[in-house]
Amino acid sequence: MDSFFDVIKTIRIWDIIDILIVAFVIYRIFLIIKGTRALQMLVGLAVLLAAFIASRWLELYTIDWIVQSFWSQIVIALIILFPPEIRRALAQMGQNPFLRTLSPIEETRFIEEIIRSAVSLANKKIGAIIVLERETELKDLIEMGTPLDARISKEILTSIFLPYSPIHDGAVIIKEGRIAAAGCFLPLTMSAAVSKAIGTRHRAAIGITEETDAVVIAISEETGTISVVMEGKMTRDLDAASLRRILTKVFITGKRERMPLLEKITSFFPIKDRSQ
Ligand code: ATP
Ligand code: MG
Repeated sequence: MDSFFDVIKTIRIWDIIDILIVAFVIYRIFLIIKGTRALQMLVGLAVLLAAFIASRWLELYTIDWIVQSFWSQIVIALIILFPPEIRRALAQMGQNPFLRTLSPIEETRFIEEIIRSAVSLANKKIGAIIVLERETELKDLIEMGTPLDARISKEILTSIFLPYSPIHDGAVIIKEGRIAAAGCFLPLTMSAAVSKAIGTRHRAAIGITEETDAVVIAISEETGTISVVMEGKMTRDLDAASLRRILTKVFITGKRERMPLLEKITSFFPIKDRSQ
């Protein structure tokens, strides 16, 4: 009789490596699809798979036939319907999980500069939309805008969004503590849950956060209020203190909680100061 220990004895080192690789890949896939449209896609696939298993089990031959015949077409349809998600997933697979660009000290400085800029824009009632990139790369959006690669400062951000500036229309994208581009066009939300009273700037802010993990700060030209949008949800009427609380939670505390141990340790030693 095969006991548990007999099974254990037959495990080779390659089996363990095999399992670890598969586990890592699945983990990365889950991280990527967390909170995106791809999640709905996965739920849909799970429903189909359940239908397939149930039809086999209950001997529902018609359903079985439909699922069997369309399975390959479904996969092709998904590839056609979800190119951005698939592209992102493939790009992120190759990303180095240990690559970090900002230390907590740099991160704090970056947050303070963003807050100063947002408050200054709000006080002057200059409409603005600032996208802070996190793990999902916003390369496509950056490429469509006007590339800048500038150090963040209240003065530069104000200049960008001044009504006569040629790049005031559209969003600024912040990547690794620098202004990567301005005048970027963001996808608008299609959600029916968003009130009709909300204008296009705020719709764009909601739209991009539905598809990516970016954090967006929108400053209203009409009311001079600051809003933060994350995962499609908008928090309005923020002041410096409440904005600081949110950004610190996302970029410092939250990040450290999610970090693997090795990264947690190395994050205290800045690799390169990009903010200078
Ligand atoms: P506000 O409160 O500032 O008036 P709003 O939400 O009412 O904002 P609009 O008044 O329609 O929105 O703001 C229009 C501005 O929003 C545009 O001039 C442009 O700069 C910006 N904007 C609109 N659509 C997009 C988009 N898809 N991506 C980036 N920016 C956009
Ligand atoms: Mg408006």
